[in-house]
Amino acid sequence: MERQFTKEIESLRLSNGETFHGEGILAVTKALLQSGVSYVGGYQGAPVSHLLDVMVQARDYMDELGVHVEACTSEASAAAMLGASINYPARGAVTWKSIVGTNVAADALSYLASAGVMGGALIVLGEDYGEGGVVAQERSHSFAMKSMMWLLDPRPNLTTIVDMVEHGFALSEASNTPVMMELRIRACHVRGSFKARSNPPPAVSGLHKLDGPPKEFIYDRLAHPPAIFRQEKLKSDVRLPAARRFIVEKKLNEHFDGPEKELGIIVQGGLFNGLMLALRTLGLADQFGESRIPILALNVVYPLVPEEINDFCRSKAAVLVLEEGQPEFIEQEISTALRRADVAAKLHGKDCMHMAGDYNVESLVRGLSKFLARHAPQLNLASSASWLDAVQRIKEKAAELLGTLPMRPPGFCTGCPERPVFSAMKLVAQDIGRPHVSMDVGCHCFGSFEPFSQGNTLLGYGMSLASAAGVGPMSSRRPVAIMGDGGFWHNGLLSGVASNLLNKGDGVLVIMKNGYASATGTQELLSSPPEDARMVAVGGSAAHADHTIEDTLTGLGVKWLRTVNNYKVGEVAKVYKEAMSTGFKGLKVIIAEGECQLERQRRLKPIVAKNLSSGVRTVRVKYGVDEDTCTGDHSCIRLSGCPTLTVKDNPDPLRRDPVATVVDGCVGCGLCGENAHAAVLCPSFYRAEVIQNPSVWDKLISRIL
Ligand code: SF4
Ligand code: SF4
Repeated sequence: MERQFTKEIESLRLSNGETFHGEGILAVTKALLQSGVSYVGGYQGAPVSHLLDVMVQARDYMDELGVHVEACTSEASAAAMLGASINYPARGAVTWKSIVGTNVAADALSYLASAGVMGGALIVLGEDYGEGGVVAQERSHSFAMKSMMWLLDPRPNLTTIVDMVEHGFALSEASNTPVMMELRIRACHVRGSFKARSNPPPAVSGLHKLDGPPKEFIYDRLAHPPAIFRQEKLKSDVRLPAARRFIVEKKLNEHFDGPEKELGIIVQGGLFNGLMLALRTLGLADQFGESRIPILALNVVYPLVPEEINDFCRSKAAVLVLEEGQPEFIEQEISTALRRADVAAKLHGKDCMHMAGDYNVESLVRGLSKFLARHAPQLNLASSASWLDAVQRIKEKAAELLGTLPMRPPGFCTGCPERPVFSAMKLVAQDIGRPHVSMDVGCHCFGSFEPFSQGNTLLGYGMSLASAAGVGPMSSRRPVAIMGDGGFWHNGLLSGVASNLLNKGDGVLVIMKNGYASATGTQELLSSPPEDARMVAVGGSAAHADHTIEDTLTGLGVKWLRTVNNYKVGEVAKVYKEAMSTGFKGLKVIIAEGECQLERQRRLKPIVAKNLSSGVRTVRVKYGVDEDTCTGDHSCIRLSGCPTLTVKDNPDPLRRDPVATVVDGCVGCGLCGENAHAAVLCPSFYRAEVIQNPSVWDKLISRIL
């Protein structure tokens, strides 16, 4: 992982009274240390990757504190790590992206929630919901409810987030229950400051070791019959009341009063900032966050405390619940609490707001306007009506001027090694027809979009080969599964490869061996090339430097295994065609090698900059298109999709079709030339060498030429 967090690591050392400045997710990292955490683990994924990345890079400081940091191979192994807090007074925290990560971790989480914990156990969830979300749109809330783990949803400001981390550990200990804390993308990236505290040495740690297993063997700490029956009763009879007591005593939920006492808003903490902007737009809040309508901000969204809800609602004529996503768990629970206590306040929620999708300021203004029109007609909302009209007019004007804009799906980085594999697959499909392609989670999923349009299903991380198992036997053509090396180690090895071998399956598996878990920030894998091999490989590919994947597959019993250099499109096409047509019965695996270009460029950039400033001769390869030869049919673009291969006006006044052109930014990966050769395209591509700090010889040659 090349991104350096030097500054962020320094801020982890801040002590009492110093001010921390930075992003929400880094504030969480500091808060974990301030809370005396003993161990931290997790699996990377936006928007919480930085938490673990910073901790991994701060290993020296973690060693000083005695805090153990584990870069887990999946969310399941991270969740299982929390087992350390079942028997020992050790605080532990793990992190991952939700909902997908929580799905993967579900088994261990159920056991953990059943057994209960002695030391505080905190799970920091990157709640990837709504705008900017990249995974299946579901909420973590249901997981919290079904396992009876508590769910925090702090107001997105750094002081509240940090307080909730510290309270989260204490809540976990007070109720012997693991606690989840969901942070949406906006909360992770919100910037601000808070007064730091010194990091206390953890009660149990690498420096203060346990002197053996628990003195007394307690069978009840095992989530196993018959203990599980008692544990289930403990959840509702003991742990839940203890949690509710703690929430009330420590005032974890916040009540903001306002003069419109007949009305009330109950909001998930994470939506608070959006709500305040909406209220300001309506003229019902000032710039200091003073609202005219009383608000109950739920920093703990599960469990709710019925008495707290009833007390807030009792004096009100109408209350609006703002809860993002579906179904409306919180609204239903509030409704039950009010009905049981005969509280007469009229309850609104999803009848004013949309059910699916996130709540942006515009939707909040619309929903609040509906609620207020019904229950507070005396309030002057003229300014909001004109604001909404203005927003609508802008949208209509934009639609009128622009028409329907083409979609701009994400795509591979310039020079990505995965692009040529899809070029080769596209070429082969012209000969033998299109197969069913099951995709996996990772950068290669961009091959689902134009110009490749390959990928019929996406079932989760490391699941592509497994998801082809049902398709294979009923297809006349072999199915193809694409998997990254990240997905291979996460789940694909067992769920896909082992299952295929056990069932004597057929089919083709393409493993993109780019060296890292690239899509989440190029974190290292078991098969990442060693550090020294990466430096040696500055002029070439480093992904081949490690053979752990190949050795693992061979050891498991894979008999048909080929390795290709991704950038040699003709060779990739040949091997792929062989895999699709061979008479060999059994799994056929193609290892497609090529180092992640993002990682490679990050490593090269400072080296090249240093060479340039010290006058060292530097050569950069770039491809170009001869505009006189280009036929203008754009086959090269349809086979590549590289952002730096585009079109420009035809300089020939007698030809109208735009010609292809390579703009600045080409990293000289060579795909253009390879495609032109493999697909027998027009001979318009040329390879150029851009020489900086030329030698005398270079200058002489250039003069002669
Ligand atoms: S991050 Fe790496 S693997 Fe992913 S698209 Fe970019 S170059 Fe390709
Ligand atoms: S050689 Fe072609 S595909 Fe490779 S970076 Fe340059 S323009 Fe893009």
